[in-house]
Amino acid sequence: MISLAPAVKVPLQSKIVKYEFLTEDVIFLSCTRPTNFNFKAGQFISIKIFNANGIEPLFRWKSYSICSPPSQQESLDLIIKLIPDGFASDAFKKMKVGDTFELRGPLGHFTFKDTEEIKDHWFLGAGTGVTPLYSMIAEHASHQPTHHFTLVFGVRHEHNLFYTKEIEHLTKTNKNITFIPTLSRDNWPGAKGRVQLHLPKDLSNKDFYMCGLNELIQETKDLLLTAGVEKEHIHFERYD
Ligand SMILES: Cc1cc2nc3c(=O)[nH]c(=O)nc-3n(C[C@H](O)[C@H](O)[C@H](O)COP(=O)(O)OP(=O)(O)OC[C@H]3O[C@@H](n4cnc5c(N)ncnc54)[C@H](O)[C@@H]3O)c2cc1C
Repeated sequence: MISLAPAVKVPLQSKIVKYEFLTEDVIFLSCTRPTNFNFKAGQFISIKIFNANGIEPLFRWKSYSICSPPSQQESLDLIIKLIPDGFASDAFKKMKVGDTFELRGPLGHFTFKDTEEIKDHWFLGAGTGVTPLYSMIAEHASHQPTHHFTLVFGVRHEHNLFYTKEIEHLTKTNKNITFIPTLSRDNWPGAKGRVQLHLPKDLSNKDFYMCGLNELIQETKDLLLTAGVEKEHIHFERYD
């Protein structure tokens, strides 16, 4: 007799191979990529995080976007903001190279819409919201040399910027990428203000990808919709 029981999705195992602070409260984790773990740029994983204080609840599943592009075979890179007294943040503070964890995934539908119809792609990320955007640009910019990719990356202060060397390296190797880091609270020679301020004047024939906390997503989505951008050209991932 054939069993009709649903397939159980077994969590996968991964091990931390690199752990470093990118800023005082943002860490970079490079983890082993489980065998046959295939994902699309922009997707996330869910990680089983144990309570750092050993009390109830003993664990929670928490979501993290994959920063590395799928073409990077050897590891999955994550960029994580440590929030004061955060459940997962407290656990991440104690983690170290060699620690293992369970993950589920890949998850999510925040992925690049690869069509010939739209050739101008705008990516707006605040803080660690830049993570899935980096993965999408790193994966697709070199395959689409006739398309243009603009990344607007917003943080408050210059010392909050991270991963800029890696992003600038991408812009050097792919002439079709423009990188606009913007600071909302510092005066510096570069772009200033929140990411929404740097949207192009002409919003037509473009796709927009946004990632970060709800406020950024809501405000930018409303702004684009009010200006007449159709829903199908607005793609987003919320972190809270
Ligand atoms: C699909 C998805 C992908 C995500 N990917 C990432 C990622 O790549 N990197 C990452 O750092 N976080 C990411 N997050 C957020 C992450 O899942 C956790 O919510 C975050 O790490 C806080 O967990 P915590 O247990 O430490 O804090 P909690 O104890 O759960 O406290 C939550 C508080 O932290 C705030 N918060 C959540 N995320 C952020 C953030 N990034 N910056 C500032 N405040 C925040 C919430 O608004 C809330 O006030 C993602 C969330 C989702 C839903």
